Amino acid sequence: MNVLIVNAGSSSLKYQLIEMEDESILAKGNVERIGIEDPVLKHEPMGKPEVKISKDIKDHTKAMELVIETLVHPEYGVIKSMDEIAAVGHRVLHGGDKIFESVVVDEEVKKVIKENFELGPLHNPANLMGIEACEQVMPNTPMVAVFDTAFHQTMPPEAYTYAIPYEDYEKYSIRRYGFHGTSHRYVSKRLLKLLNKDAEGTKMVTCHLGNGSSIAAVKDGKCIDTSMGLTPLEGLPMGSRCGSIDPAIVTCLMERKKLSTDEMNIYMNKKSGVLGVSGISSDFRDLEAAAADGHERAQLALNMFSYSVKKYIGAYAAAMGGLDYIVFTAGIGENTPSIREDACSGLEYLGVKIDKTKNNEIAAGCGAEGEISASDSKVGVYVIPTNEELMIARDTVELLGLK
Ligand code: ADP
Repeated sequence: MNVLIVNAGSSSLKYQLIEMEDESILAKGNVERIGIEDPVLKHEPMGKPEVKISKDIKDHTKAMELVIETLVHPEYGVIKSMDEIAAVGHRVLHGGDKIFESVVVDEEVKKVIKENFELGPLHNPANLMGIEACEQVMPNTPMVAVFDTAFHQTMPPEAYTYAIPYEDYEKYSIRRYGFHGTSHRYVSKRLLKLLNKDAEGTKMVTCHLGNGSSIAAVKDGKCIDTSMGLTPLEGLPMGSRCGSIDPAIVTCLMERKKLSTDEMNIYMNKKSGVLGVSGISSDFRDLEAAAADGHERAQLALNMFSYSVKKYIGAYAAAMGGLDYIVFTAGIGENTPSIREDACSGLEYLGVKIDKTKNNEIAAGCGAEGEISASDSKVGVYVIPTNEELMIARDTVELLGLK
């Protein structure tokens, strides 16, 4: 049985077709530049050469039609007809404070996605377009929505409330929501499965370190705190996002540099983070190479990042009253041993001890999963490659009772 995973952006539509018996990917791809000039579909059928299709694609419905045409194409397709797609799982950014778990798409769910347009202005409208495009193109196929915020909905009020006048939380829904929830949920579940352990009684910190980075405190299998907030800007310094800074810096810079709200948003989201500090790149591979050549600000950016990860691990150990496991995942977490080592150094007092050989063995590009803590470490430290699409596919099958 096959499940199609759809991740719709404002001018893009990423997809993956997964065969659920052995959870293998049959094909994946991306329609880019929807509604703008030179749209293109890049399609990767497994075991066949990649194809690029340039065509006029004016909206998400046209994009979805092209995806289906491509998936059933006699030459580079991977299925014979659309009927071989049992269900569609959609990635949706923001479920606000109404959605706690994955849900079967119906009118009520679409209404919640719409109600949260203001909280996820770049993603939610696009996610809804993706859902409506599928409704048009494959009206009889059931759909499930999996929300990036859902896993964090178990946070207690003291973790999600900001110290601003309470009526503004009530009126504008300004609170911590957290993001990358599907990834934090996937790796925390995967670790428990690897260890053959029940969630009850476990205290885990999951570190999703990629272009966007976030950390979650997962106690008894449930999220009790996370570093991203109302938006994915809070928390760690990221590729080009500033993460947590003194909020007074915002008004100070807007005044001094005469920046508008839009310009300030671009400054914080696109010009800051390790890119802003190093002045050279948002990519950790470039920063490591530059630091090795003696580039001081590249080294400073790397140090700031690891130091910040370490602070969150310590803070969440305090929040949970202890620590049993640390998990590293996503582009940096899976591929950069030096960041994992630096983030864990100095945490010996918490019982964290990395085995440098094991850590270095899970090197760039190897895609491996495994333990990197020393045999006498009280805290188990693991690298687990994330797989948000698979999590969405599993939720889809489970919720629709397709097994
Ligand atoms: P996104 O948030 O865009 O999904 P990723 O999780 O792909 O981001 O992470 C991108 C980051 O991972 C980049 O800073 C990149 O330098 C880093 N990275 C380091 N090594 C690798 C690698 N071998 N493959 C991919 N990303 C890597």
